[in-house]
Amino acid sequence: MNKEFDREKMINPKYKKLKYNTMKNHIVWIILLGFCLIGCASIASNNPTAREVIETIKSNLTCQWSKNTVDTFKAGDPDSEVTGIATTFIVTMDVLQRALDLECNLIITHEPTFYNHLDEVDHLKNDPVYEEKLKFIEENGLIVFRFHDHWHRTQPDGIFKGMINKLGWQDYQVEPDILVFKFPESTIGEFAASLKEKFNNSPVRVIGDTEMKFTEVGLSPGAPGYMNHVRMLERDDVEVLVAGEVPEWESITYVRDAGGLNMKKAMILLGHVNSEEAGMEYLATWLNDITEDIPIHFVPAGDPFWTP
Ligand SMILES: [Zn+2]
Repeated sequence: MNKEFDREKMINPKYKKLKYNTMKNHIVWIILLGFCLIGCASIASNNPTAREVIETIKSNLTCQWSKNTVDTFKAGDPDSEVTGIATTFIVTMDVLQRALDLECNLIITHEPTFYNHLDEVDHLKNDPVYEEKLKFIEENGLIVFRFHDHWHRTQPDGIFKGMINKLGWQDYQVEPDILVFKFPESTIGEFAASLKEKFNNSPVRVIGDTEMKFTEVGLSPGAPGYMNHVRMLERDDVEVLVAGEVPEWESITYVRDAGGLNMKKAMILLGHVNSEEAGMEYLATWLNDITEDIPIHFVPAGDPFWTP
């Protein structure tokens, strides 16, 4: 019966046509698949290079790109195609590994790669930490770009915007562009505890009387320096300064002295990472709007401190 059926198929012109059409379909599919493969290959080869991604960033900022800047490539080949972008506050070994796991070869970091503001490395030649870190970046085809000055200079300041969003302080800002906020009255103790909770129970540090009641707060993210802190603390509308980091013999002693003179001033130190990191999370969102088809991830470096 099978044989007869087969024979019938062989002599049936309808079947022949069917078979011919099936073959034709196969050829069409093979051609289409070929086009698709060529198309996919050309999409892959059209990925922008790291240098091109940075040019796109430059053209979307509100500020002019300055020649005198720390915002430069720090390691890796800027002419490599970008497979994905990782934004981070500071590019630690852990961040490099997680970027690699996410298949992101371009890492955009707010702070330096090699432990000093200008990423000078002459003094680090033969240093085992520096050498191993650089080797890891190069062997894995990673590219590191620092994006500090211009992320602060664009309007609104990307770090400030991300931080105010994270803190949920938008409605308390007294004037746009000035980092001064007015809250319902609370004590330093209560306020500092709520900040600690917001930053994953990080060891937030406080200078001032825990029972001090206040409403007016200034914000100084990062390490803007002693002068910025003093100018903020001198303001009549700043009772508490929430800051990133500072040497202990500078603004911290100033606040202790203000307390010793019965002036109502206090300071809460979040740590540099906590006080700026959300700005690099916001960068990932911002990049998503200006780049096409490149996977973008925020990779938190996290607060480096813990207390026993
Ligand atoms: Zn900063």
